[in-house]
Amino acid sequence: MNDPKSALPPVAGSALDLIGRTPMLEVRNLDIGPCRLFLKLENQNPGGSIKDRVARSMIEAAEADGSLRPGGTIIEATAGNTGLGLAQVATLKGYKLILVVPDKMAREKILHLRAMGVDVRLTRSDVGKGHPEYYQDMAQTLAQSIPGAIYVNQFANPANPLAHETGTGPEILAQMDGDVDAVVVGVGSGGTLTGVGRYMAAHSPKTQMVLADPVGSILCDYVATGTYGEAGSWIVEGIGEDFIPDNAQMDLVRKAYSISDRESVDTARLLLRKEGVLAGSSSGTLLAAALRYCREQTEAKRVVTLVCDTGAKYLTKMFNDMWLAAHGFDQRELHGDLRDLIA
Ligand code: PMP
Repeated sequence: MNDPKSALPPVAGSALDLIGRTPMLEVRNLDIGPCRLFLKLENQNPGGSIKDRVARSMIEAAEADGSLRPGGTIIEATAGNTGLGLAQVATLKGYKLILVVPDKMAREKILHLRAMGVDVRLTRSDVGKGHPEYYQDMAQTLAQSIPGAIYVNQFANPANPLAHETGTGPEILAQMDGDVDAVVVGVGSGGTLTGVGRYMAAHSPKTQMVLADPVGSILCDYVATGTYGEAGSWIVEGIGEDFIPDNAQMDLVRKAYSISDRESVDTARLLLRKEGVLAGSSSGTLLAAALRYCREQTEAKRVVTLVCDTGAKYLTKMFNDMWLAAHGFDQRELHGDLRDLIA
């Protein structure tokens, strides 16, 4: 007789012990050309996103170097998921948390943060780096004005890519039995790209890092030309940039795809209908790029991409036909097998 407990993880002593070791799912029902495509389900972290890993890593690094003392205040600029991860760690470890969040972010994320007792300061989404109301500038100024406060700064904090170099990267290679041809990632802070990319460079040099970037972000241009101009805007949350974060080691990128909001939304909806995975908007961008990459191959490649967060946070936005119509999505032409899926 099989012992039903033998395949189950042990009882955890803290939600923090449930971070990482996320499952891998093979895609079965999408057109992936000659390839095999696998999804690492980061939405299954306890806070619902890939950012749980870096929240724990950055707080533990600040504790270790003495900058964060018991009862101290943590301040961060975040689109939401890093904030949720930080809220979980801060609550369990007894720190105060102030988050500066751009006002374009999903209400579900903000309500979730408020429910966790976080002091959320909303700021403008329509201003760029250097403006006092830009979310990162605002967080930095705030940290300087509060004694004992630390500004986490996921965009430059080395404990961010380190969490992926020691966690996400090794897990991917192990789950793929050491055989991965490409990993498709997005860049928000650059932590995933840099951490997974460094690990693959050291342990699986054949693995190509592929960038999925929203149209409007400057990162694709930067990969192609080494320079960039003014950023546009996009509705996908958590990825795409108007600058190159210190944590984004862009020379790790071998190939880059610029993905429209339309394609990201359609692909996230397709993932839900065809594979049963309710994923967030950035996962739509990553999967769209992964599908393009797979279909371009002439040989069978083993490709991995990430489901960065759960789509439950976006039910009132990209999974809502009324919201899509209000944002002009119904006026654009649908293509291929997506036509019948968007009523
Ligand atoms: N997807 C989502 C939903 C995110 O919140 C983030 C982080 N901002 C990313 C992807 C990008 O990850 P990274 O910060 O490691 O570049």
